[in-house]
Amino acid sequence: MAAEKIPYKIYLSEEELPRTWYNVRADMKQKPAPLLNPATGAPMSFDDLRPVFCDELIRQELDDDTREIPIPDEIRNFYKMYRPAPLVRAYCLEEKLGTPAKIYYKFEGNNTSGSHKLNSAIAQAYYARQQGLTGVTTETGAGQWGTALSMACAYLGLDCKVYMVKCSYEQKPFRREVMRTYGASVTPSPSMETEVGRKILAEHPGTTGSLGCAISEAVEKAASTPGYRYVLGSVLNQVLLHQSIIGVEAKTALDKYGVVPDIIIGCAGGGSNLGGLISPFMGEKLRGERDYRFIAVEPASCPSFTRGRFAYDFCDTGMVCPLAKMYTLGSNFIPSANHAGGLRYHGMSPVLSQLYHDGYMEAVSVEQTRVFEAAEQFARVEGILPAPESSHAIRVAIDEALRCKETGEEKTILFGLTGTGYFDMYAYEKFHDGKMTDYIPTDAELEESFARLPHVPGQDKTV
Ligand SMILES: *Cc1c(COP(=O)(O)O)cnc(C)c1O
Repeated sequence: MAAEKIPYKIYLSEEELPRTWYNVRADMKQKPAPLLNPATGAPMSFDDLRPVFCDELIRQELDDDTREIPIPDEIRNFYKMYRPAPLVRAYCLEEKLGTPAKIYYKFEGNNTSGSHKLNSAIAQAYYARQQGLTGVTTETGAGQWGTALSMACAYLGLDCKVYMVKCSYEQKPFRREVMRTYGASVTPSPSMETEVGRKILAEHPGTTGSLGCAISEAVEKAASTPGYRYVLGSVLNQVLLHQSIIGVEAKTALDKYGVVPDIIIGCAGGGSNLGGLISPFMGEKLRGERDYRFIAVEPASCPSFTRGRFAYDFCDTGMVCPLAKMYTLGSNFIPSANHAGGLRYHGMSPVLSQLYHDGYMEAVSVEQTRVFEAAEQFARVEGILPAPESSHAIRVAIDEALRCKETGEEKTILFGLTGTGYFDMYAYEKFHDGKMTDYIPTDAELEESFARLPHVPGQDKTV
């Protein structure tokens, strides 16, 4: 049996570490819609984006055509510190579930940031330094992105200024200290440091913040500080591009053993890990070479795909960013405090939004207590303590495996295990104490937010 030859962990050698990122947009017939200038409604040009982003990253952002983009040696060497990441055959979980399904997961938690975010952080910091910049600003929610960026900036000698969503700043003091260990300066957001922060605080006194607010602050700071640019850890096309290393490695490892997944599952916050994992497989589907089922998993508390609108919206609450066409809950939507951490963004990657809209991908939403049940079940048999975000994917992978148990189908399931949950023990504690609740926004709340979507000339906002 071929299956018996497959090891628990499929490792690739350093030689096999990918040399190029794969740009899935090159294979999309319907390209993702361009970013628009909110003042004029015209597509953002290279020059429009220059005050905020570094030049090479803008080129990557706007490049819908180049299929393979070389990974510079310095980035590839940094990757070698923690990559190639293992692809694990979840034999123990399969046995525990009693399923005929074969389950694989790609583990991205093997670095200090505890997530896949380092894959893009090092790339973005590299291009910033290459341009001779002195620093970057960013936002962080749960803290993984801020940590990843701090690590990358420390390595390359760049300043790093992080606006951290206030409730996370208070709930996760150790995350903050990790960032400071790597030399970053960390400010709780909204803050009085920026004009937009002061405005948000005046309108919503006592707010514990959101990613959308923190983005506005970070963008303002970058645009007003010489030698600085802004970087973002998810949503953007360039981030999906860098994260394609996850999928390229996973596919290389599976190909070695002739394994072809039937279902590929990932959690979706802004879409970067899911987009990265599925990219090379999606490329095959788009080119008509092979069919796969792709499933995005999002929290029921922040259901951008399953209950959002496909419309142009602001990427941030302060409305200083360009407009992106994406599945969105509205940039005014501030999700209730919950433990989905990095999955609380109001919008979704324009690439994944277009693919979902065109029927290439499915999406489901799951409630957080069921997510933590899956997290615990997984930790007890596979050993790894998963991040709450990643556990959304675990939940649906288990559900699909249990479905196979009923039907007797021997499906092959691949999911992204994006990170570890060591900084999420308050959430685990709430779950264990039976104090976790499943907040789901009402239709009325969402409608109120949709009503405030920006009006873009020539665009029907209720697609
Ligand atoms: C940030 C994060 C996510 C969600 O972000 P995406 O851009 O949707 O991938 C998922 N898992 C972990 C561990 C994260 O840190």
